[in-house]
Amino acid sequence: MSDLRVRFAPSPTGYLHIGGARTALFNYLLAKKQGGTYVLRIEDTDVARSTQESVDAILDAMEWLGLSCDEGPFYQSERFDLYKQKVEQLLQEGKAYRCYCTQEELDAKREAAMKEGRKPKYDGTCRNRSDQPDMPNVIRFKLPEDKEETTFVDKIKGAITVRHEELDDLVIARTDGTPTYNLVVVIDDAEMGINLVIRGDDHVNNTPRQILLYEALGYPVPEFAHVPMILGSDKKRLSKRHGATSVMAYQEMGYLPEAMVNYLVRLGWSFGDEEIFSMDDLIEKFSIENVGRSAGVFNPEKLLWLNSHYIKTGDAVRLAELLKPFLASKGISTEDGPNLVAAVKSLQERASTLIEMAEGAAFYFVDSVSYEEKAQSKFLRPEQKPVFETLLAELEKCPEFIEDQLESAFAKIMEVTELKFGKIAQPLRVALTGGTASPSIYEVLQVLGKDRSLSRIKQAIDSL
Ligand code: GLU
Repeated sequence: MSDLRVRFAPSPTGYLHIGGARTALFNYLLAKKQGGTYVLRIEDTDVARSTQESVDAILDAMEWLGLSCDEGPFYQSERFDLYKQKVEQLLQEGKAYRCYCTQEELDAKREAAMKEGRKPKYDGTCRNRSDQPDMPNVIRFKLPEDKEETTFVDKIKGAITVRHEELDDLVIARTDGTPTYNLVVVIDDAEMGINLVIRGDDHVNNTPRQILLYEALGYPVPEFAHVPMILGSDKKRLSKRHGATSVMAYQEMGYLPEAMVNYLVRLGWSFGDEEIFSMDDLIEKFSIENVGRSAGVFNPEKLLWLNSHYIKTGDAVRLAELLKPFLASKGISTEDGPNLVAAVKSLQERASTLIEMAEGAAFYFVDSVSYEEKAQSKFLRPEQKPVFETLLAELEKCPEFIEDQLESAFAKIMEVTELKFGKIAQPLRVALTGGTASPSIYEVLQVLGKDRSLSRIKQAIDSL
């Protein structure tokens, strides 16, 4: 056990993005590796944009990826009292003040600053106001005057210094009294004992402001590790143009969670030139030191390659369970068809996704085969009747549909028909599957079993 405490703190304003999932994964892995604690906190203070649907989507994605938290999920919307109390504390200690400037005034000042080529920032009009008019107001954090700059050493990016002249008095509570992100994230990370904040580098500019808030509230400052963003193949920020960016969209497309985990971790982290990592490997090998400083580039082909690897090497019983909903959505019931696990085994080498596997498995479970037009006109011709009749007779004699018995039956069929294996197997494949591409003919026969295979051959003879 260690005292490492990390967290993932998504805002529930949409589905879980690839980038968010990677942040969660890095936090999870480091906590597991070091025997620390991984906290999940839902940052739902923006009541207008947060939805229960998004909360559910995030929790579903966490579950799918196998990133269960040690503590949480906590909801910021249930912690408003605490935030209020802290805002009050800052006001009382003279570290925050009420600002009565109207939006119009602020806009005008901003415009003037831009015109004069100055960086627009709050000019401190209300900083030293002593009256407290009964007017709508926000609450601002007073930028401390005793320091000129703030520095922190980011565990990925190295030392980062921000001059305070770049900053202004941050709004910590809105006119309606609701606290803002930078304040609540500090209060929660501190109150939850988080000592390493791993998050996307879109927050790196917030960090100096947050450090000042930690100090003002008398909290210890955690360490930070800002993970570089994810880009599309054109080196632009990852967006829908580059493919689905929602993690759960990949589940729906038939990806396995272990492929997604393996893919996500390599978007920014490396371990020599190894590519394949199970969750256990990752827990052993992951470190922040090996997270790169440059942006990861999203590569859907690589994700697909990893997925086919995990399908090939996966446990067929588990894959069969995962496949069921995909078959069901194609209207295929596996209740009284051939053994689903055997069907899966025959397809593991051939399918890159569970959708492809469901498509490839469909023929096993139909009551009567429907033939692809081209395959039928080429391979189910009247002159093939004797071949099918020989197949029927010899396979009927085969006591069990297992590989060596099927081989002997085929030896006999080749002898009787004086045809090569391929000339028999391909028409038979069309009879059994409806098409010309399928697992090997012995596998298909074995998975279908004797009764179904023979009845499909009879169906083919009837069609000639
Ligand atoms: N809730 C913030 C977001 O989703 C993350 C805050 C953080 O990690 O500090 O962008």
